[in-house]
Amino acid sequence: MMLYIHIPFCLRKCAYCDFVSFAGRQEEMPRYVDALIAEMDRRPSAEAVTSVFLGGGTPSLLPAPQLARLLRAARQRYDFSPRCEITAEANPGAVTPQWLEAAASGGVNRLSIGVQACQPELLRAVGRPHDFAAAQEAFALARAAGIENLSADLMYALPGQTLRMWEESLRAVLALSPWHLSLYALTLAPGTPFYDLDARGLLPRPDEEEEFAMQEAAQRILPAHGLFRYEVSNYAKPGCACRHNVGYWTRRSYIGLGCAAHSLVGNVRRANASDLDAYLAGAPAAEQETLAPQDAAFEELMLGLRMTEGIRLSARAWSLFSPGIAHFCQRGLMCARGRRVWLTARGMDVMNAVLAELMP
Ligand code: SF4
Repeated sequence: MMLYIHIPFCLRKCAYCDFVSFAGRQEEMPRYVDALIAEMDRRPSAEAVTSVFLGGGTPSLLPAPQLARLLRAARQRYDFSPRCEITAEANPGAVTPQWLEAAASGGVNRLSIGVQACQPELLRAVGRPHDFAAAQEAFALARAAGIENLSADLMYALPGQTLRMWEESLRAVLALSPWHLSLYALTLAPGTPFYDLDARGLLPRPDEEEEFAMQEAAQRILPAHGLFRYEVSNYAKPGCACRHNVGYWTRRSYIGLGCAAHSLVGNVRRANASDLDAYLAGAPAAEQETLAPQDAAFEELMLGLRMTEGIRLSARAWSLFSPGIAHFCQRGLMCARGRRVWLTARGMDVMNAVLAELMP
């Protein structure tokens, strides 16, 4: 069993962000932690917890005493396995030695730091309230607090970003010696300022070819520095893949706590409502659906193929998809050995098209 805890507070909204997060409501954080603990009481688990992920929003905005209280409450209510991976997301400029000390004492042993880029003009353009010096400081402070397993997020295909700037960001972040990197292409989500600007033709973004060149640059540069691609968007030192996210891609069960958090237990998916006031009032509505067996099998294939090593399919998924898999193996886009299937490098580049054809 895995645990996800959503902390939906941010200093301000980034121009591309459609995550459920709220700027300017930080004073409600103590009440939010109360509500999270109440939800833990309502949603126990008999299974040991093998990984925990505090995501957001900006978990590093939680005041240190609130973070300590939250982690203590989770430990008191769930059975954490001895080697439990506990990740927290942190933003440069919004992480303090006090917060890191509370995190480390509460068992946080992995940090995911939202660096995004190294050029101040790009960070400003996407609405990030920090500079690269703050990212360097966050890495140094985390290590001083004893947290060695550090990951950084970087974004590409940003407005105004050139291939040279992207390579510069990759090299700048590599100089911080992260154990793990997540690289995300900008996506335009309806309702965000970037979406509206793009619709009016006012967002000068790299075209598809330039975006592809940025992906290729990462695939060329990162392995030379000991970081290997293990998932579409993720690179890690050997043995340092994010166990929690691998759990998502292998469809392990997880309980999601908090406003807008999602859960999967067996084939039952649940989504907590995204209304912060309702959540704080202790009456969070949730939507629940039970996946049909063929939908669960397709999800298994779709998520598993995100990883470079692929997935060993269940007997049901194999019987449903083996004819299509054989077709893609012949075309050099997939490989199969027994029930284990994976995409070739060429297949990885066209993953969405492959999945669209395999969809039942
Ligand atoms: S810090 Fe993250 S969650 Fe918060 S607004 Fe920016 S992208 Fe969204």
